[in-house]
Amino acid sequence: MYDDFFVNVVMDRSWITTSRISDEYENGVEDFLQFAKRNGIGVNNKYYCPCVNCVNVIRQDIELIREHKDQTLMS
Ligand SMILES: [Zn+2]
Repeated sequence: MYDDFFVNVVMDRSWITTSRISDEYENGVEDFLQFAKRNGIGVNNKYYCPCVNCVNVIRQDIELIREHKDQTLMS
């Protein structure tokens, strides 16, 4: 059941690429993190980071994901 969520979030990256609407991006990342936390799908409290560098392949802890998110917005 989690697969469907990841397919939706990972494949539908409209909230990542809409850089001009940073609120949408912010909410998208936050929703992702909250979902991941609630459902305990992380490994050792690490979750796939949706930023452009990690591209949902590398696991990071939540604070790092938030930092990466900010870096993505700046670039
Ligand atoms: Zn990252």
